[in-house]
Amino acid sequence: MSDTKKERENKRFSRRDFIRNTGLLAGSAALGATFLTGCNSEPASAGNNGTALQSWDHETDVVVIGFGAGGAATAITAADAGAKVLLIEKAAKGEEGGNTKYSGQGIMGTDNADELFKYVKAMSGLFTHTISDEIIRAFADGAKENREWLISLGANADVLDEGMGGSGKPWIWNEYPELPGSDHCICWLVSGKNFDGAFYQLLHDNVEKRADKIEVWYDSPGSHLIQDPETRAILGVQVVKSGKVLNVRANNGVVLACGGFENNEEMLANFTQQPYFYPYGALYNTGDGIKMAQEVKAKLWHMSNCAGWLWGFMPPDAKRCKTVTPQKGIMVGPNARRFMNEAQTNRHGRINFGGRWVNMPVPLPTWYIVDSTQVAANKLVSSFSAGNAEEIAKGWIIKADTVEELAKACELDAKTLQETLDEWNASCTQGADALFGRSGASLLPVATAPYYAMKLGPTMYNTQGGPERNSKAEVLDLDGNPIPHLYSCGECGAMWPDMYNGGGNLGEAAVFGRIAGKNIAALQ
Ligand SMILES: Cc1cc2nc3c(=O)[nH]c(=O)nc-3n(C[C@H](O)[C@H](O)[C@H](O)COP(=O)(O)OP(=O)(O)OC[C@H]3O[C@@H](n4cnc5c(N)ncnc54)[C@H](O)[C@@H]3O)c2cc1C
Repeated sequence: MSDTKKERENKRFSRRDFIRNTGLLAGSAALGATFLTGCNSEPASAGNNGTALQSWDHETDVVVIGFGAGGAATAITAADAGAKVLLIEKAAKGEEGGNTKYSGQGIMGTDNADELFKYVKAMSGLFTHTISDEIIRAFADGAKENREWLISLGANADVLDEGMGGSGKPWIWNEYPELPGSDHCICWLVSGKNFDGAFYQLLHDNVEKRADKIEVWYDSPGSHLIQDPETRAILGVQVVKSGKVLNVRANNGVVLACGGFENNEEMLANFTQQPYFYPYGALYNTGDGIKMAQEVKAKLWHMSNCAGWLWGFMPPDAKRCKTVTPQKGIMVGPNARRFMNEAQTNRHGRINFGGRWVNMPVPLPTWYIVDSTQVAANKLVSSFSAGNAEEIAKGWIIKADTVEELAKACELDAKTLQETLDEWNASCTQGADALFGRSGASLLPVATAPYYAMKLGPTMYNTQGGPERNSKAEVLDLDGNPIPHLYSCGECGAMWPDMYNGGGNLGEAAVFGRIAGKNIAALQ
């Protein structure tokens, strides 16, 4: 923004405006939004529950909130377009990266944007009315550019094209192969491997390379947006840095890239019908961007959709759970009964139920029960010790000589558990699971004492809900109009309303990060 324009804006917020706006502040305090009530040249206001802005503490062109894939893609793009960027991150240095750092690193792309458009539209299933063709189009077109963009950041083109584990061709990861366009859903891997942090490292390196244009503040959560009460334009953001609340002016605007609400139990309970989830990736994604957006009356979408659900085991004192594929025995709920085919394949946590792909059921708690034969032969979690000996010794896996003792330790009804095991073992002998259709080699009896049980709970990859954005990455208000100078990307209001294909979230963070970065840098 030119000095002249800034001066003009400052003049607009004269002492008269300050007095007039004090009335608005009573309402704004209740909402938590922060309205501009004074300016550098004006006397400080008396404050209003800490939300009345008295002066600017810092100024930049673009503030990006959150240093995951979305925030990094935005910051890099805006900086390359000439903007001065402040990237604020809630976590301490070394802890940044949210879900992106812990993710499988697969990034959705395509060789044919029209076909990917069809596939993504088909995946929105019964929810197509919640997502416009325009936004799917913007995503599909952007996804086609993901490969070149990765190469421009320094990714090796040969490694990308050799696909998963150097298979020799790009990895087509189509979890819904029956849907139109699925053959063109490519998943790019920067290192040819999953879960090694390579994509996040590439982004991080590129942010650091632009240190002259991108300033990063760690340990600095964004807390409230600062909004012009008349035009509703976003002028900046309040940031908590070293225990102080700083008013940061963003001349071009603010980008919400601070992830979802995987770490906010209250939001999880209210929006997902599951009282808790074990943390899997991010630890700081407490829905702050959603709250900030609500304060300025943004419209929310896709709040109940998640990528997951999965089974997790939470070791005591651990920060993150370990995911479990409980197929070496059976699972029972608190009623001591089985509830699904444990070996059923799922698509990002969804199973086919009456022709519709829905989240797997997760009774709380779920007990994974196996016998001594399977415990000796298999690690119940891939990172466990041989024969699970250490985990049994630590009490992570409960051991009991009889079914009755096991039931007691798990607070299950012993008679019902015995019936469940008898029924299951008979199914294994007969070679058919009459209840849920589990079959073949997965029919593993739970018949040889001692018996073992592991307590499982739900975990997930990520939430999808948040403020609705349009194809320009602008955040929309309750009437569907863009809130001036407010953008978003990534899983803070992701575009996925229903079925989901792996790579989609990182692909989207990359595409809408670039769109947000380009558009916000171009604002005057
Ligand atoms: C185990 C796992 C595997 C996955 N694998 C894949 C995969 O292979 N492909 C795929 O597409 N998706 C995958 N996902 C999902 C994907 O990782 C996320 O959806 C994606 O990384 C979201 O990127 P983001 O930038 O929006 O958010 P994040 O990467 O979560 O980053 C958000 C950042 O914002 C910060 N933050 C939060 N609040 C504030 C605040 N108030 N102020 C400042 N900063 C704040 C957080 O600390 C964090 O650094 C996986 C997820 C998990 C957990």
